[in-house]
Amino acid sequence: MEYSELSPRIKRVYSQVRYLDDYRWEIPGNRIIGTHKRSNVKVIIDVADDRESAERIADAGKSEGIRIIAVPDRNVFFVHNGAFILTYRYIKATLADINDHIVWSGFRVVEDDGKLLQEDFYEYLGGALINHIKNNMLAGQDYIFWQFYKCEECGKYVDVESVERHLRGHGIKHYEKSEERYEIFEINFRDGKIYDKYGKEVPMEMFSEEARDFLEEVTSGIKG
Ligand SMILES: [Zn+2]
Repeated sequence: MEYSELSPRIKRVYSQVRYLDDYRWEIPGNRIIGTHKRSNVKVIIDVADDRESAERIADAGKSEGIRIIAVPDRNVFFVHNGAFILTYRYIKATLADINDHIVWSGFRVVEDDGKLLQEDFYEYLGGALINHIKNNMLAGQDYIFWQFYKCEECGKYVDVESVERHLRGHGIKHYEKSEERYEIFEINFRDGKIYDKYGKEVPMEMFSEEARDFLEEVTSGIKG
């Protein structure tokens, strides 16, 4: 298939996304597929005539990954059956938002053919994404995501930068670990609270001493 054979709609949508190099793009014909490079999360973009047919496409089933259905109508943006249905012009911003909501959540070292490889884990925080879009919240300004490690000794959450120091306090050698998994929490600057990925508040007493100092510093720094 040649590029010129694609439908004008697909070309119009593709022309919105092709500058976003966080994704690898392929066009299998009547849809556009983006693979988020760091995490391999897939974004499937379909095009529809209007919002009604977009809803039908969204109802027709779930595909793997994140679904976007682009429509030519102006000022359309809503979520239907887990799919984002939106105006062509909103695609680029939405893909940038999706990128902000795919967050590193740990690693492990695996053996592969005689050598050791690091495998990284990522999480797509879809619930938070919808919430942030709804409330017009910007990454870095209204909130940030941060990794927290649940200590196996005391059960408290430790911010990623303090893990080594914290574990040393329990006599655990951090460098001996070949795998670490983190919880991603949202530090919300609007209300100064911490939320887990489901939007539930994480109370201060669940954090370690170091993590509390860290949170104090970040939230006061922004407000001040
Ligand atoms: Zn501990």
